[in-house]
Amino acid sequence: MLYDMSMQNPYRYTLDNKRYQTFNYYLKTLYQKKVAKVILDLDFTCPNRDGSKGFGGCIYCSARGSGDTSAIFDGDIVRQYEKNLEVMHAKWPAALTIPYFQSFSNTYGPLSKIKKYVESLIYRDEVVELSIATRADCLDDEVIRYLDEMCDIKPIWLELGLQTSNDKTAAFINRCHTFAEFKKTMERLNKTKIKTCIHIIDGLPYETYDDMLKTIEDLNNFDYDAIKIHMLEILKGTRLAEIYEKDPFSILSRDAYIDIVTKQLALIKEDIIVERLTADPIKNDLIAPMWLLNKTTILNDIDKLMVKKDLWQGKYHESADLLP
Ligand code: SF4
Repeated sequence: MLYDMSMQNPYRYTLDNKRYQTFNYYLKTLYQKKVAKVILDLDFTCPNRDGSKGFGGCIYCSARGSGDTSAIFDGDIVRQYEKNLEVMHAKWPAALTIPYFQSFSNTYGPLSKIKKYVESLIYRDEVVELSIATRADCLDDEVIRYLDEMCDIKPIWLELGLQTSNDKTAAFINRCHTFAEFKKTMERLNKTKIKTCIHIIDGLPYETYDDMLKTIEDLNNFDYDAIKIHMLEILKGTRLAEIYEKDPFSILSRDAYIDIVTKQLALIKEDIIVERLTADPIKNDLIAPMWLLNKTTILNDIDKLMVKKDLWQGKYHESADLLP
């Protein structure tokens, strides 16, 4: 059956047929120019890797610390940024940028180091915003105060991995922090100018549909600005891969993932930016699910299902009990 994608779109934060607010829409309407993230891999680690809270990191995390780049940090952030900028400008000359400190927990270190990295990039003309990936338990008052002050120069985002609000699952995946800790940090961040993007993962081992919807409902209790939703990836060389090989747990099918994402979008507040609905795993690293390799068709099928079910972002934000 074909769906009429040109039918009137009831969702307002869009310039096309999308029924959720894409990051592209946010950037386009704000800057009227191409803006792209420049991914950086710096010399941080995580408290669940170095023994301060645990060892080995999250069970699904790759050796690259959930980064997309295989670049090795040589101690010079500007050199790494300019190298990546050159590649980006070959594709989009004159594009504006958002440097993104992606791998590991980039506020897990002394303030002097965080300051050095932030201030070596934030004043550049082409940089419009700055984005820092970290964990909710790696943000002390001093760091929050500093980043809040720097928001007067340019907007700063903190990308916070939550993955699930279910503490039992969080313990299974070795997050080494609880939802209560995340909540406390969000309450502190909600009093600042810092923007927040929350990362969650669908299809975590033994999670039910209800668990995945509950994570979104729990997030609805905070102010946050953006969300990234990922499907769980089983990557070679991870502890998750070992667990899966010994005792293959059930993995969400492509259809189930698309269905749950449309429901999650319907529960999210309508003006939140949806930065990602699926990741881009490297084929050779991926054990399962292989359907993740075709990102474009997944996104298209999410759009189609939202039209078919007459859903849009925020439709059931105030009335979760009515969600079909
Ligand atoms: S907190 Fe992030 S970078 Fe650190 S181990 Fe977990 S997924 Fe990897």
